[in-house]
Amino acid sequence: MAWWLTRTLAWLLAVVGGALSGALLGRLAGHPASGLVLGGLFAVATLVLRDGWRGQALMDWLRGPLTAPAPADAGFWGELGYRIERALRQREQGTRDQREQLAQFLSAIEASPNGVLLLDGADQIEWCNSVAAEHFGLDPQRDLRQRVTNLVRMPAFVAYLQGGAFDEGVSFAGPLGRTMLSVLVRPYGDGQKLVLSQDVTERERAEAMRRDFVANVSHEIRTPLTVLAGFVETLVRLPLSEPERQRVLTLMQQQAGRMQALVADLLTLARIEGSPRPAADRWVALPELLQQAGAEARALSAGRHAIEIEGGDEVEIGGSQAELHSAVANLLNNAVRYTAEGGRIALRWQWRPDGSGEIAVADSGIGIAREHLPRLTERFYRVDGSRSRDTGGTGLGLAIVKHVAQRHGGEIEVQSEPGKGSTFRRVLPALRLRRRRPLGQAATALDGG
Ligand code: ADP
Repeated sequence: MAWWLTRTLAWLLAVVGGALSGALLGRLAGHPASGLVLGGLFAVATLVLRDGWRGQALMDWLRGPLTAPAPADAGFWGELGYRIERALRQREQGTRDQREQLAQFLSAIEASPNGVLLLDGADQIEWCNSVAAEHFGLDPQRDLRQRVTNLVRMPAFVAYLQGGAFDEGVSFAGPLGRTMLSVLVRPYGDGQKLVLSQDVTERERAEAMRRDFVANVSHEIRTPLTVLAGFVETLVRLPLSEPERQRVLTLMQQQAGRMQALVADLLTLARIEGSPRPAADRWVALPELLQQAGAEARALSAGRHAIEIEGGDEVEIGGSQAELHSAVANLLNNAVRYTAEGGRIALRWQWRPDGSGEIAVADSGIGIAREHLPRLTERFYRVDGSRSRDTGGTGLGLAIVKHVAQRHGGEIEVQSEPGKGSTFRRVLPALRLRRRRPLGQAATALDGG
């Protein structure tokens, strides 16, 4: 039954009951009419008192922390309490949902690889994720509500933030000077700012390397080209005797050869870098590889060195024949070029106890001082530039060897001492090695030494 009907009935019952009992009392006292009025008033007063008491209970609940349920009541006050409580719970649920959404949103920003910093209209920090904290050297809790320019004092950043021209970003060295940051500001809301930061140290380094590389290549090509152009001019302008002409042509041939070697090495590097890693299941027979590279080295040495090949008869390597050959040939080429006449050069295969193996090229040549060893595989790094060029070096040989080694899952190790010779080891992982299949048998994958 609806509360208003219950209530109306209660009113009627109280009034009628009060009136009847008042009439009864009045009759007994000899004044039935005034008894009727008194009875009615008594009934109304009872109802008003009861309502007041219920309303007070609701008020007490409303004044409290509102954690307990509203007072249970059937009538008007009960319905009012119930509706207030329901509105409150709905509001609480809405707030909880919003808080959850905000937490999810912030944790999504937190997961961003970029730094995010929110600033209010006075450039005070409202929130920052941990990446931004790391980029700017901030504490995400302690530094809240601090003016960002008091904490991040890099002049380029301060000028950018205060300049207000946010169409483009700005780059500057991070607070400890070890990183390069790229920062972009996006204004929003009522003077607030969204500051996005990115660590571009690696990108800048790669860009600097690319610039250096282009500059080096240009320089390496320009030198022989200038010499070549000079000789051409000499040939055109001067009437040379036949022996002079022959000498000039020989020198021109050398310069052209130098350029050819450089371009060939550049192309090899580009091909290696631009192609996927060689498949591990294309098996290359090591003995043939060693014999071929050894023969080429003997041709280059022209009998000036004793060149020997040891081991590897049973080995097959999983990888690219062309790349593996290029790596071994480069190492042997260096050994010949940096070893004086009469020196010894050995090309050896050795298993290692862990199942990996190495192709070692050892020479008794000029050797390399310790401080140069870490940089040998850098492109165009030379210990002695003129010796390298005079012997036809491009400065790219060991860079190629290192690339090939990495693409086959291996590495290069160098041992060297000035005047005592060098050993370059090209280490290959067990995964890319197997014993050669003797006729009529299956090959055995990897059981090492
Ligand atoms: P390059 O064409 O100049 O030989 P590489 O990249 O092959 O370039 O080698 C880099 C430098 O390492 C060489 O310039 C040389 O100084 C040094 N080097 C390489 N191999 C040897 C070696 N076997 N003995 C002595 N020095 C070597």
